[in-house]
Amino acid sequence: MGLRPARTVAELEELRDLTGDENGAQRVAWTDTWETARDWLRGKVAETGAAEQIDEAGNQWFTLPGASERALLIGGHIDSVPNGGWLDGSLNVVAGVEVLRRIAAEGRPALTVRLVNWADEEGARFGRSLFGSSAAAGSMADQEELRQRRDSDGVALPDALRERGVDLDGALEARSQLASAAAYLELHIEQGPVLEALDLPLGVVLGTFGVERHQVTWKGQAAHAGSTPMDKRRDALAAAAKLALEIRPIAAEVGGGAVCTSGGVVCRPGIVTSVVETAEQLLDQRHLDAGELARLLALAKEASKRFAREEDVEVSWERIWSIEPILFDEGLVELADESIREVSGTSHRLPSGPLHDAAEVARAGVPTVMLFVQSLRGLSHTRLEDTKKEHLELSVQALDTLATKALAQLG
Ligand SMILES: [Zn+2]
Repeated sequence: MGLRPARTVAELEELRDLTGDENGAQRVAWTDTWETARDWLRGKVAETGAAEQIDEAGNQWFTLPGASERALLIGGHIDSVPNGGWLDGSLNVVAGVEVLRRIAAEGRPALTVRLVNWADEEGARFGRSLFGSSAAAGSMADQEELRQRRDSDGVALPDALRERGVDLDGALEARSQLASAAAYLELHIEQGPVLEALDLPLGVVLGTFGVERHQVTWKGQAAHAGSTPMDKRRDALAAAAKLALEIRPIAAEVGGGAVCTSGGVVCRPGIVTSVVETAEQLLDQRHLDAGELARLLALAKEASKRFAREEDVEVSWERIWSIEPILFDEGLVELADESIREVSGTSHRLPSGPLHDAAEVARAGVPTVMLFVQSLRGLSHTRLEDTKKEHLELSVQALDTLATKALAQLG
């Protein structure tokens, strides 16, 4: 029995009907609806004979033993945000079931094949994304902080996890799951507009962007809007506005997919009759290359000093958050490129703006690659999230082709 990509689409619709409502998907991690989705998945995998295991972090694993204990991993997340879409995360889990079926029907594979449904990728209930994958990757280092987290009803994170059989203190024991991993494959909707603009169904993901997030504080002098001549002003907002525009040529100069966003400016005193004394500006810069990311930041800092001089104000920078770029495996990127070309004729390589479970797995040293399938209108995390059925079917084929190539190369 061969691969049946149309079955994946039908099963995704079945999952949507089972775990969504008129507002969208409701598979928020650690809730009853999430448990319903995990039960449903268990039922789908049963016919392949793959053995189920829930690890110490709540990740759901299905293992099809192969000639070697080394394992090819296929992963996604069945959890969603509240009022979410039908494809984000669940596409790869359900496509992975179809690939497992195809492999199981052909007899014992060269490598062990494992499907993983990561626990709480979205962090929708407690504000902590990539819970299960970061535990398995060994990069989870915020247990103290997690212990304090509560949901909007006041339920503490450790209590919600305990209800699902997970002990927060033991979550890092899930690390043992990646010990035998030879490669990790993840198919995901793009959640952006790039593939649709190129009119391509599929692309290979090169890695996830590194991010630099800063607060830039500008200090001038509050002064009366009527009595202060234009050339005597120390206007903090004027300097912030210059930087908000300057990040465009900076992104263009650095290139390579660089993106910069001035996401907000808070002005004080913030009244119509005063020059702005303080402007607190939020800046987010992203690049796939660590050196180029550093250059984006350096150029913006340099420009800010120039604008501070021009407007006679002071400027200071404070880092809010940062993460380094995480690059996927070159060999697997090549295989993924070939797979997409075989299935749909043309491939495209692109970075991922959002983080994914795959980034955690790659960070743990497991050779990793992701496939993106086109998102309609670039929308995600809403019930309007959608992808053409023919593109979903192509994506299942591409994942299956990639799995076949990876098994041949690693086996
Ligand atoms: Zn996702």
